Amino acid sequence: MWQVLGQARAIRFLENSIARGEPAHAYLLTGPPHVGKMTLARNFAQVLNCSSPQAPCGQCPSCTRIASSKYSDVQVIIRLKDEKTGRFKREISIDQMRDVQKAAQFPPYEGKFKVFIIDGAEWLSSEAANCFLKTLEEPPARVIFLLLTAKESGVLPTVVSRCQRLELHPMPSNQVEETLITQGVDKSQAQLLAHLSQGCLGWALQAKIEPQLLQQRQEKTDLFRQLAKSGYEVRFGVAAELAVQFEREPEQVNTVLETWGMWWRDLLLIKERCHKWVVNVDQMAELEQSEANVFSVTQIKGAIKNIQLTIRYLRQNANPRLALEVLMLSIPLPLPA
Ligand SMILES: [Zn+2]
Repeated sequence: MWQVLGQARAIRFLENSIARGEPAHAYLLTGPPHVGKMTLARNFAQVLNCSSPQAPCGQCPSCTRIASSKYSDVQVIIRLKDEKTGRFKREISIDQMRDVQKAAQFPPYEGKFKVFIIDGAEWLSSEAANCFLKTLEEPPARVIFLLLTAKESGVLPTVVSRCQRLELHPMPSNQVEETLITQGVDKSQAQLLAHLSQGCLGWALQAKIEPQLLQQRQEKTDLFRQLAKSGYEVRFGVAAELAVQFEREPEQVNTVLETWGMWWRDLLLIKERCHKWVVNVDQMAELEQSEANVFSVTQIKGAIKNIQLTIRYLRQNANPRLALEVLMLSIPLPLPA
């Protein structure tokens, strides 16, 4: 049985591609972080190698060993960690892809198909992507590449064009809530996690076992609330800190900006009386009673746009300090009481 939840369309697509005979050589699975791309990829690798007629059975040696990452014919390629700092490197290197290229030349060792899952295809360096392109142009038999990405625009278009593209969508919030309840989460917590996850079940499940995720989110929102009340000296100090952090952990800074963007979005929804779409449901009282009254709709829309622009500029390698300072200047000051 497929384990990935809420992705019936994607499952049908993959099942059909097997039923037609030869599956494609490469698939690109796109969708937001934690939407289920890796679960789907592992499930598909199980289907390709399962010994039961009801694949993926989840019980046979192939299925169980793929699930526990012990199957020699299924390899996951991610960014390596820097030995000194312990942090992820910025790219998947050409050396990693050369190793893939070599390994792909040999037939499956124990299974029916060799499967390479490239987790974070947007991280392929341009040399790595070009090296991979050569493999895709002459794909070895019984080898399947599954490229996963939350940022399709970062994947080389010539690589994308050689893959079957499959988009994964977030689940409706009530389905995430129901799934969490079946896993023993109480109703109010399930409701909160379902809203915060924005339909990405993987995030909700992670937050269930790692409560610090909720704590970190709270800290980001608190920081932003503080900023909105502060003068430029404080704001520029925060911009400088974030710019330094961006050099080490660009994704973390991106998450901070997305959290802020979500806070403004909630304010707008409250002002427009669309409460059911609010994400930060645990902070509804504060949002409703105070903050929605101190900013105008025009200010809120401007703030959302500026945060989105900053995220885009940072992706396009703008100077982080400058981009963040410009954002700080653009955060509106509250309307006079
Ligand atoms: Zn099986």
